Amino acid sequence: MQPEKVDVLVIGAGPAGTVAASIVNQAGYKVKIVEKQEFPRFVIGESLLPRCMEALEEAKFLDAVKARGYQQKNGAKFEKQGKICNYFFNDQFTDGWGWTWQVPRADFDHTLAKTVESQGVPVEYQTGVTAINFHPDGTSTTTVEDKDGNKREIFARFIIDGSGYGRVIPKLFGMERPSNLPPRKAVFTHLVDTKRSMDDEPDRITIIVHDKAVWIWVIPFSTGITSVGYVADPGFFEQFTVHRKRSCGR
Ligand SMILES: Cc1cc2nc3c(=O)[nH]c(=O)nc-3n(C[C@H](O)[C@H](O)[C@H](O)COP(=O)(O)OP(=O)(O)OC[C@H]3O[C@@H](n4cnc5c(N)ncnc54)[C@H](O)[C@@H]3O)c2cc1C
Repeated sequence: MQPEKVDVLVIGAGPAGTVAASIVNQAGYKVKIVEKQEFPRFVIGESLLPRCMEALEEAKFLDAVKARGYQQKNGAKFEKQGKICNYFFNDQFTDGWGWTWQVPRADFDHTLAKTVESQGVPVEYQTGVTAINFHPDGTSTTTVEDKDGNKREIFARFIIDGSGYGRVIPKLFGMERPSNLPPRKAVFTHLVDTKRSMDDEPDRITIIVHDKAVWIWVIPFSTGITSVGYVADPGFFEQFTVHRKRSCGR
C-alpha cells in the first residue's frame, strides 16, 4: 500500500503543534497532525505569557480563544515572607501585548485543535508516531500506530516535532541529554473555590516563595476553579504523609 503523502507532518496537537500547523497551512502547504491521545486531555501549564498572544494571532486562533471566556491575566504577584512585588505586563519598554489568559489546558488545547481543523488541517487522534525513517534527501517516512495497534506509513517532506513531553525525535534518535538544572517536583490540584471573591485578583497569577527552592502557584480560572501547585526539590515532599480521601463502598 502506498503511504499517505503530505508536505509537513506535525507530531502532537498541543499548542506548539497546532500553531505551527496553522502557520504552515496558511503558507499553502499540505499539513497533517497526528496526536497520540484523544482530546480533550489534561496537561499542566495554564498561565500564559503575553508573548503567546503573538503566536495565537499569527495562527488566527484569537477569535476562537476569546469566545471561550477564559480569565484575563494582566500580570503576576510575587509574595515572599510578607513582602509583595506586583508585576504588570503593561509596564513594558517595548510594544506588544499587555495581557494574556489563564487557561484550563484541556479546553484550551481542544479549542486550538478544533480551530486548526476548521482551517483545513486534519488532526488524527489516538495515532502515535512509533518510528521515523529519514531518507538521504531529507524527506521521511513515519510509522504511526492507532489505538487498535494498526500500523501505517506517512511520507512527508518535513516533520515538525510538537510532541512536548513526548520528545519523540530526541527519543527515537538518541538525542536526549540530561538537564543541567537542579531537579524539581511539582504537586498540583484544581480546587473548586466556592469562597473566591472577584476582588481576590483573579486577573493575575500569584507566586508565593515559601522557602529556598520551594514555591507555590495560584492560578484562578474564570470557571471558579483555581489551580494550585507546589514546586520544590523532590526531597522537600518526603517530610509529608500522603492522605488520600477514599470513598467507602458497601
Ligand atoms: C509543573 C509545570 C507547570 C507549568 N506551568 C506552566 C505555566 O503556568 N504556563 C506555561 O506557559 N507553561 C507551563 N508549563 C509548561 C507547559 O506545560 C508546556 O510548555 C506546554 O504544555 C508545551 O506545549 P506543547 O504544545 O509543546 O506540548 P504538549 O502540550 O505537551 O503537547 C504535546 C502533544 O504531543 C502528543 N504526543 C506525544 N508523543 C506523541 C507521539 N509519539 N505521537 C503523536 N503525538 C504525541 C501528546 O499526546 C500531546 O498532546 C508547566 C510545566 C510544568 C511541568
